Amino acid sequence: MSGNERRGQLAAGLAAVRDRIALACRDADRDPAEIGLVVVTKTYPADDVRLLVELGVRDVGENRVQEGQAKAGEVDDPRLRWHQIGQVQTNKANATARWADVVHSVDRARLVDALARGAGNAGRTLECLVQVSLDGDTTRGGAPISEVPALADRVAASPGLTLAGVMAVAPQTTPPRQAFDSLVEVAGALRADHPQATVISAGMSGDLEAAIASGATLLRVGTAILGSRPPLQ
Ligand SMILES: *Cc1c(COP(=O)(O)O)cnc(C)c1O
Repeated sequence: MSGNERRGQLAAGLAAVRDRIALACRDADRDPAEIGLVVVTKTYPADDVRLLVELGVRDVGENRVQEGQAKAGEVDDPRLRWHQIGQVQTNKANATARWADVVHSVDRARLVDALARGAGNAGRTLECLVQVSLDGDTTRGGAPISEVPALADRVAASPGLTLAGVMAVAPQTTPPRQAFDSLVEVAGALRADHPQATVISAGMSGDLEAAIASGATLLRVGTAILGSRPPLQ
């Protein structure tokens, strides 16, 4: 496929997602200007990221630390904000701090400390979202709701880190709207102690309307823009 064809595909995907966002905002009586969009480029090449930048995208998300690090190095465009949205092993925190601007998957105290050390080593500041496990099954990442306040305090108290808000993936067993409503409740409680923590990262290709209805402020959308990915090995 030529670069122009791919550019056309990406433009169409972006337009379709922006239309869905506009419709969902109308239904929810919200202003589309308050909804951010992270385009999830995992498994797709750096060339796609470059095309997305030309199309006006400024926030891109990666699931795997090594892939994100490689792609951020290849594209190296100061206009971009790189989001690490997948789980981070503690021993990858230092590497993450070198390329990511925002980490959505902060879910344990040891990771907070490791990211703070990494940010210090890199001389950078990382925006952190506390990932919430809405069904308490933490195998897919996320902290149980009961642990969120202490984790948030720890992020806020760590030099090199700022607490930006919360993130969740809807559990397979809960209707998305119900899951996202409980995330929004967690976010509200957090803002009582940390008024600057306003980001609610929720909603993907399949459930962005539910996330917008609940009150999400930042969507993470991959396949609806870039196409379906080959299954992960
Ligand atoms: C892959 C991924 C997304 C995007 O999913 P799509 O269904 O492709 O839109 C969002 N969040 C996380 C954590 C992901 O890993």
